Amino acid sequence: MKPRLMTPGPTPVPEETLLELAKPVGYHRSSEAKAILAEVSEDLKYVFQTKNPVVTLTSSGTGGMEAAVSNCFSAGEKVILLIAGRWGDRWRNLAKAFGLNAVVVEVPYGKAIQPAQLEEALKAHPDAVGVFATLSETSTGVGHDIAAFGKLVTATPAILVVDAISGLGCMECRTDEWNIDVNVTGSQKALMLPPGLAYVSISDKAKARIDANQSSKTFYFDLKKYLSKIAESDTPFTPANTLIKAQRVSLQRIRKEGIENLWARHARMARAARAGVQAMGLHLFAEQPNNGLTVITVPEGVDGNAVLSKIEKQYGIKLANGQDNMKGKIWRMAHMGYLDLFDVLAALSALELVLHEVGFLKEVGPGVAAAQQALAAKA
Ligand SMILES: *Cc1c(COP(=O)(O)O)cnc(C)c1O
Repeated sequence: MKPRLMTPGPTPVPEETLLELAKPVGYHRSSEAKAILAEVSEDLKYVFQTKNPVVTLTSSGTGGMEAAVSNCFSAGEKVILLIAGRWGDRWRNLAKAFGLNAVVVEVPYGKAIQPAQLEEALKAHPDAVGVFATLSETSTGVGHDIAAFGKLVTATPAILVVDAISGLGCMECRTDEWNIDVNVTGSQKALMLPPGLAYVSISDKAKARIDANQSSKTFYFDLKKYLSKIAESDTPFTPANTLIKAQRVSLQRIRKEGIENLWARHARMARAARAGVQAMGLHLFAEQPNNGLTVITVPEGVDGNAVLSKIEKQYGIKLANGQDNMKGKIWRMAHMGYLDLFDVLAALSALELVLHEVGFLKEVGPGVAAAQQALAAKA
């Protein structure tokens, strides 16, 4: 059976990148290593759509989030947290760990934070120095209007910090144009690499806060060190240089496809997935779905956990369960990175076959047919 990894991280890695990972380990301070990091940094700027520096951290995505919190803010400072799911909650936990004074704007799982809610919070809290948002809320499938958030935040002294870990590279995200001051992503979602690297872009406005922060409680994630080293295409500590070399290969693939084509391809996959799911009589969980994954509400009377394990055991397709209290209540089908339209059709087909097997569907076919019709229709 051919395994298909369709979870929202990790995601499949292209063959040419896997081959790069099989090569001998090199010395990380060599001139070749610096040239590779320089190329990766430039290509990351392209993916982020920024002219600002993008630093590479050897950590999972959360390390990038922690770096943003610990460097840009000090204990007691007021920040606004926009929370629409589990990943928004990670901002809450980080803010708590670093003693920030958090004002929380929260919506129930499945809903999206609306720009008017942020506008109100900024008016009520003119002393806020930071706003934390999530581009793609991977726990619910919601996508946020970061461009609208950026317009509001840029007019204030606050900086906009975005968790774009599962969104960057699969939905439109223009770091500079949208006024994102600190944008964080990880290697294992749309960037087609195994887990292990986090990338953080830093605007001048954010840099000023980092430079002025005298009480930063971090050593490993000290962004001042990463910024001064990246100017020489270097890193303060030993980086996961094998991953950096491999990231270069996946980034070359993205460059070749072109960022707008990449966004359009993900939009097509998402459109097909949504059409297929709805034609099976299922409901989308997110009110404002993003293009990186499709989150499906488990219908009443169906054992959500059993369906997922059948799809995996019988058809080799790994979809993700809900996390924490959402386990068994939703199914999450990722279509980000090195996955294509035919992986989406395969997953819909497997879902349809299993839902038929467990008696939820009377017949098979309408889901896959609707997805193909969505693809055949002119966008
Ligand atoms: C995957 C993900 C994370 C967590 O990243 P780790 O690499 O597990 O630390 C954070 N935010 C979002 C939106 C994600 O999808």
